[in-house]
Amino acid sequence: MISDLKGTFSQISNNNKRSAIREILKLTQNPEIISFAGGLPAPESFPVDALDSIVSDMLREEGAAVLQYDATEGVTELRELLVQKYQNEGVQCSLENMIVTTGSQQGLDLVGKVFVNQGDVVICGLPSYLGGISAFQAYGAKMEGVPMDEYGMSAELLEAKLVELRDQGIKPKFIYIIPDFQNPTGITMPESRRLEIIALAHKYDVLIVEDCPYREVRFDGEPQRLMYDLDQDDHVITLGTFSKIFAPGFRIGWILGPKDVNDKIVVAKQSSDLCTPTFVQKIAIRYMQSGVFEENLQKTIDLYHQRRDVMLAEMEKHMPDCVKWTHPEGGMFLFITLPEDMDAMELFHKAIEKKVAFVTGNVFYCDGGGSNTMRLNFSYVNNEKAIAGIQRLAEIIEAEVAV
Ligand code: PMP
Repeated sequence: MISDLKGTFSQISNNNKRSAIREILKLTQNPEIISFAGGLPAPESFPVDALDSIVSDMLREEGAAVLQYDATEGVTELRELLVQKYQNEGVQCSLENMIVTTGSQQGLDLVGKVFVNQGDVVICGLPSYLGGISAFQAYGAKMEGVPMDEYGMSAELLEAKLVELRDQGIKPKFIYIIPDFQNPTGITMPESRRLEIIALAHKYDVLIVEDCPYREVRFDGEPQRLMYDLDQDDHVITLGTFSKIFAPGFRIGWILGPKDVNDKIVVAKQSSDLCTPTFVQKIAIRYMQSGVFEENLQKTIDLYHQRRDVMLAEMEKHMPDCVKWTHPEGGMFLFITLPEDMDAMELFHKAIEKKVAFVTGNVFYCDGGGSNTMRLNFSYVNNEKAIAGIQRLAEIIEAEVAV
């Protein structure tokens, strides 16, 4: 081994932190543990049978072509289908706005790569998706958090933050927002809040990165318009993915962004992976054209709807009054707020002993806050386990309240 391996690693690699969630998940591997900790879609929702025939038909009809490299932007037909999907909901966009990525996680990485220099400020919600925070921090971003209320990031506190930064001569690179069924809170921003935030982005001349992996998984309420759609002034870059509506193992996501931004992103992607696997893109094209897509998505929505209802009902029955939680209209997560003086990390260790697990909310707070919060996933665990798990969790919290 060379003498100074540590000093040989790049600044970026030294910026990388091991994901706190992965460390937590390691402790939840025991199959006896009922885990609300992960963020996995239900495997029952994956369209295995439909894919079986799509893949064999495809190989028979198209042969080697599906195994070849393709354009960095993505296979044109898939990009066209994705553009069509947005146009169908009234979004003005065209092919030049659409790039296929290797999961939306690559989208986050590429956004970091093209915008963030060491020390640049990026604004995010308190709390916010850890994988987004880590992707930006890897390029040296200094994350500044803005508290959320029941409608998402507070516009008032965002403006206060933008003024504070401006007074220090700092212009943030972008505001990172997950407007629909946010990870980790499950909160959705109504249109009025989206518009307020877009107005602030215009006033302070800052980009918005809207990350929408859960958008299509809505059980209740009205779909909200994309911030990209509400803006129409090239201030918004939208990330999407098939992970929650088709198959996460496909690693297909996309970026819907202004042409000038996308031009830079394509060049950055070239040196990252040349192109997203052609094979899975071609399968996705056939899958979208087959009509199974909508049918299977509806099944997924119905399954998660029912799982969320079971979880909420059980929490209502068993949680002590001092515990509050969100009521997501879709997505995969809900968020619990414990009394201020209760430490979710201490509860976590007790919970593991009682064979139930969650993710402590503090990992999603870039300011080190959130010690009395926790994230629960409701998409993965079946109803029977969810009922037993929530009862165990409620007992543990109840015992803590009594101390
Ligand atoms: N953004 C958010 C908010 C997420 O929750 C996730 C994954 N859970 C991702 C991006 C990454 O998803 P993928 O790379 O599978 O598209």
